[in-house]
Amino acid sequence: MTTRRNFLKASALLTAYSLIAPKSLFSQPIKASRQKNSPGSKLLQITFKPYEAKLIHPFTVSGYTRTTTPIVLTEVTYDGITGYGEASMPPYLGENIPSVMAFLEKVNLKQFHNPFELDDILTYVDSIAINNTAAKASVDIALHDLVGKLIGQPWHRIWGYTPSKAPVTTFTIGIDTEDVVKEKTKETTPYKVIKVKLGMDEATDKMMINAVRSVTDKPIRVDANQGWKDKHHALKMIEWLATKNVDFVEQPLPKHNLEDMAWVTERSPLPTIADESCQRLEDIPHLKGVFDGINIKLMKCTGLREANKMINMAQSFGMKLMIGCMTETSCAISAAAQLSPKMDFADLDGNLLIANDCFSGMKLTEGKITLTDDPGIGVRKI
Ligand code: MG
Repeated sequence: MTTRRNFLKASALLTAYSLIAPKSLFSQPIKASRQKNSPGSKLLQITFKPYEAKLIHPFTVSGYTRTTTPIVLTEVTYDGITGYGEASMPPYLGENIPSVMAFLEKVNLKQFHNPFELDDILTYVDSIAINNTAAKASVDIALHDLVGKLIGQPWHRIWGYTPSKAPVTTFTIGIDTEDVVKEKTKETTPYKVIKVKLGMDEATDKMMINAVRSVTDKPIRVDANQGWKDKHHALKMIEWLATKNVDFVEQPLPKHNLEDMAWVTERSPLPTIADESCQRLEDIPHLKGVFDGINIKLMKCTGLREANKMINMAQSFGMKLMIGCMTETSCAISAAAQLSPKMDFADLDGNLLIANDCFSGMKLTEGKITLTDDPGIGVRKI
């Protein structure tokens, strides 16, 4: 009875979804895959197309300023059902629209006849090239969305994660002038925790924190984005931040400087979290004792499949877990949100920073991630 009820519920959801979803959000032709497909086809078909995310405000972090982020939207279709995925490419990952399109051209899904064989399919996708993690993530997310829709359940439920354990998300304030930082801080309602980008010179960094503190006493999480080059300076800054109601500091030093990072973490009054130093599963053993935790991002780690492995490994080492994002649409953000009940900290505000989000998905309630019953990764095209 329960099974039949679930089936009927799933069917109703899928029917409703197909009625709501527009035929295509793409303004230009979708890059065609090699195999023909039609509703009901039992071939796995992949399509993809570039999309430019326009930022609401120019965004500055230690290293660069930008006003747009290049994205590739990916779809995987099977038996008339479409899963949505996305590759987001901030400059520091080294991917761009041509490299992602070239990678996706090589992805031949027609050799697989069963989308439920996720592990084999995604092992194959990972084997096509060494890097291209965002391109791989776009296939991983689309395939998970497809399979979740075929099952009729959201992934947080398929994995057995408890939605009420989803954390609050931070809202990020980039490096800017004192007046702008104060104004942006005033706009952070209803977020309970603010993430502040640092990693400039000491005067600028202290101005940023003091500007936020002049407006609110909400907890702050700091991200130095590799900006501090010297371990003594990093420790001095962290000791100062510890007096300012700061929860932790993300990536204080350059990503390869693990020896100095271990020195800082050993003495740090605040937890340290690896971001740029931690891209994939294989990085985690090298970070044990170097950082107190890791920041998992789908675009760095090739998607949900590997992110779950990273969760298990980091937990086995007693490390803290954070889920982060790039500037992304609600597609990749909602996929990451499915993992959020396992996280100590979440920074999933990438969709809030763009003016032209083409999906609706993850919802926030008073800044807390609220997972829904929508199947797959829980998104709809808008
Ligand atoms: Mg970071």
